[in-house]
Amino acid sequence: MPAEPKSVYDFADLQRWSTAAEGLTPPARLAVFGDPVAHSRSPQMHNPGLAAAGIDAQYVRLQIRPEELGDALRALPGAGFLGTNVTIPHKTDTLTHMNEVTDVARRIGAVNTVSVEEDGTLIGHNSDGPGFQRAIREEFSVDLSDLRIMILGAGGGAGRAAAVQCAMDHCERLVLVNRTMEKAQALESELRGFFRSDKLEGPADRLEVVPWDHDALARQMDQVDLIVNGTSLGMKRTDPQLLHPSLLQPHQMVYDMVYSPARTRLIADAQAEGARAANGLSMLLWQGAISFEFWFNREAPVEAMRKGLHDAIGN
Ligand code: NAP
Repeated sequence: MPAEPKSVYDFADLQRWSTAAEGLTPPARLAVFGDPVAHSRSPQMHNPGLAAAGIDAQYVRLQIRPEELGDALRALPGAGFLGTNVTIPHKTDTLTHMNEVTDVARRIGAVNTVSVEEDGTLIGHNSDGPGFQRAIREEFSVDLSDLRIMILGAGGGAGRAAAVQCAMDHCERLVLVNRTMEKAQALESELRGFFRSDKLEGPADRLEVVPWDHDALARQMDQVDLIVNGTSLGMKRTDPQLLHPSLLQPHQMVYDMVYSPARTRLIADAQAEGARAANGLSMLLWQGAISFEFWFNREAPVEAMRKGLHDAIGN
């Protein structure tokens, strides 16, 4: 009988991978690195995709501590890995251990996908920004380039990835909001170059930092089509309200990167105001699909991955 994979492997396992993963069928050749990592749904999403695509590999979880990260990444080629995802807290540090880094990952300042080339070269990618882009297209049938976008939590990792993607796609307008305003201001100065041309008519600046303040946000709302929650607020019932519902307008689209619960308070408020709203499950799916494309240079079996994810999350 083929061996069952462990729920979570560790660095010691990776150092003697041929023994630790002995007997696994298909062989474990993809992983997610995290600390902690036991909660990751990536195996339940990727394994049905790999099976549907007829690829002889399976995807496992690897608990890697920050001090082990460089050695763990360097161990991947020798252990026969095709690549890995990296999640919290490793996304920024992984950048420094790569042989090559894509332009998107460099601009976002984080790597969430590593591909291992045949000669052992490690290439760092970021599929969070492109995953966000495809999620918006799928949920609202519109491209970032046609939108005026407000990102709440623009100073965090996910909000930053979305903001960089919006800028690289030359969205009509980008409003950066973050509790710690200095982080949004630093991001604004990095992104200014993307907004030089004067595409919009009218008084509003195409790239703006706005304080997290009810009146300041209210002044923006007529000039925003898409509102994105990139903060960690919304996962817990006890979390403070993100936006007062009176700020939301029926013409708007609201994308909450949080996907558990499936109907966050922000989504419920947006729908009650007549706006369209979606949760972050589509971003999780598409970042996974884009990682698959980086590893295999072919279209991802998105529907098999979607089903795996829905089964794992239970909605
Ligand atoms: P992170 O780097 O820790 O950033 C957290 C963000 O939330 C920061 O902007 C932080 O503001 C803000 N924040 C935290 N508490 C706040 C509060 N009480 N009031 C206002 N703002 C607050 O985390 P992350 O990795 O970006 O993740 C953020 C969220 O996105 C999480 O819910 C995560 O699950 C979700 N996410 C979803 C996907 C997906 O595929 N759907 C992918 C990645 C992340 P400060 O800068 O002021 O601290």
